[in-house]
Amino acid sequence: MDVLKDMQRGGHEQVVFCQDDSVGLHAIIAIHSTVLGPALGGVRMWPYASSEEALQDVLRLAQAMTYKAAVSGLPLGGGKAVIIGDPRRMKTEGLLRAFGRAVEGLNGRYLTAEDVGMTVADMEIVRKETRHVTGTSEKKGGSGDPSYPTAKGVLYAIETCLKEVYGDPSMRNRTVAIQGVGKVGYQLGELLATAGARLIIADTNPQRAMLARREFEAWRVEPDEILQSECDVLSPCALGGVLNRKTIPKLRCRAIAGAANNQLEDPSDAKRLEERGVLYAPDYVVNAGGIMSILVGLQGAPKGYDRAKAERLVSQIPATLHAIFRKARAEGLTTAQAADALAEARLEEARAKKQDVGARRAVPRRAVPRRGQSGRTRVRR
Ligand code: NAD
Repeated sequence: MDVLKDMQRGGHEQVVFCQDDSVGLHAIIAIHSTVLGPALGGVRMWPYASSEEALQDVLRLAQAMTYKAAVSGLPLGGGKAVIIGDPRRMKTEGLLRAFGRAVEGLNGRYLTAEDVGMTVADMEIVRKETRHVTGTSEKKGGSGDPSYPTAKGVLYAIETCLKEVYGDPSMRNRTVAIQGVGKVGYQLGELLATAGARLIIADTNPQRAMLARREFEAWRVEPDEILQSECDVLSPCALGGVLNRKTIPKLRCRAIAGAANNQLEDPSDAKRLEERGVLYAPDYVVNAGGIMSILVGLQGAPKGYDRAKAERLVSQIPATLHAIFRKARAEGLTTAQAADALAEARLEEARAKKQDVGARRAVPRRAVPRRGQSGRTRVRR
């Protein structure tokens, strides 16, 4: 594995490998960019087959976080952490605290949060070792579990897709297929059912699937059938890579808007979707509700979380999506390319501003460094 080459290709600033055998910690923290602000991104615990697989995942996820913050105009950079191991068997207080110490060592360049395989309670334990934890419980002044604002953002994105495809955002007589009714997918199901949508659901966990079927009067299908379900909008809310050369030809939906990160297995899959006439709402725009809520939590600390402010931010997701759809149409891009272009333009603008400030600092009007009596270098202006 040539880590530096991988970092160079993706433009990553820093990758930190952490291990503590006494508690079974094997983790990687990737900081993709701090151009717009500290690198924020959740920590995922997953039984990766190898460190190479974990590295590729964390690099991809960290980069996506940079783009997610940038496209939504948030003052945050992108990072991510992965802990290698089965969360059901290997998660202990010792392991979580060792991870917390690794985060603390980065001095706030990386802010962690919960992700797949982690809970708010786990983050409280990580917090015993570092302040740089977001998304802790509302009772303790944090923004709490980000999955509800994420689900709300996905709901808005689905409405935006319906408006784009049918000219009407209403859920009445529309069918949405949700792949994965976990933390986000379940709450999305509740919101959609309340708005009057018909639901098709699937989950590899039979209990979750049964609960969602009963509560939302949803049609339940097997996990390997959900992507081919006939529906207006397909909402992938499980794991990444589900849209690829094998699955796309079988889709029977008009649009895709879901919470899962990295839904496209390969960038070329965006073109495949377009050719099939499926409108793709880019995942990192759709699922930005969680990071918006976390940002509001950070800004409110230590006084407390401003829920109304978070809701206002999440309600801007449709405006970002409309801008992406417009740009894609006007410039003959896929929606994924249009989102990347908007994010890159924001990053470039911030980089240029930083360089400008840096250049002005480096060449002061009369830069005559001299030793003062205290022995420190002084600059006369
Ligand atoms: P979760 O683990 O609570 O839920 C995932 C659900 O998907 C589980 O119920 C699981 O059993 C099910 N599942 C797994 N594989 C499946 C398959 N092949 N078919 C059907 N169901 C399957 O996770 P979550 O927090 O709800 O997040 C879901 C996705 O959204 C993840 O990709 C996550 O990275 C992304 N995301 C989550 C948030 C958040 O706030 N939680 C924010 C942004 C993005």
